[in-house]
Amino acid sequence: MAVTQHPKEEKTVVLIKPDGVKRGLIGEIISRFERRGLKVIALEMFQPKKDQIDEHYPKDEAWITRIGQKTIKNYQTYGADPKKEFGSEDPFEIGKIVRGWLMDYMTSGPLVKMVVRGIHAVNMVRKIAGATMPADAEMGTIRGDFSVDDATAANRDKRGIHNIVHASETPEEAEHEINFWFAPEEINDYKRAEEDIMF
Ligand code: GDP
Ligand code: MG
Repeated sequence: MAVTQHPKEEKTVVLIKPDGVKRGLIGEIISRFERRGLKVIALEMFQPKKDQIDEHYPKDEAWITRIGQKTIKNYQTYGADPKKEFGSEDPFEIGKIVRGWLMDYMTSGPLVKMVVRGIHAVNMVRKIAGATMPADAEMGTIRGDFSVDDATAANRDKRGIHNIVHASETPEEAEHEINFWFAPEEINDYKRAEEDIMF
């Protein structure tokens, strides 16, 4: 029988992207997780290599197609023509191009990587981060409070959408990212002072 972990043991990975670091938002971002009651258990700034970013993001056809579909949906909202900008309306072809821009964006400066643990950490951190396209993100979220970028703007400039943070989307993605970015000894354990009262 599978051992079910306590919901407060769930872990997720957050990367503060180069725009977040260069805009001086590191402290602001971390404090949003901490004040919600999530615990930072690993933290480091580093300059990523392109092959690391290539390993970090999924490469399967479904993921690449989904990226292309997000662009197409965003274009529909704003009346833009994918064919004109990409020479294609195929979500997989569009996704491949966007993934290339993402490599350049994510290696354009240092990143801050962290592991965040707490109740439903994956979903909670995604909620705090907000929607992928900052122009769609709710106010009160990191992306909604600090950016207004979206695909129509980013694609026109041939760059990734500057959306400040990365956060794992599923517990499986989180597990892959934790193992990829962190050695076991880099992940720490401690008790937050308010833990007995909050949970
Ligand atoms: P996330 O999980 O919310 O970060 O979104 P995805 O996993 O779908 O995409 C990964 C990253 O690729 C996003 O955070 C953006 O930086 C970038 N991105 C996603 N979709 C697009 C797009 O349509 N156009 C551009 N230029 N960048 C995109
Ligand atoms: Mg993602």
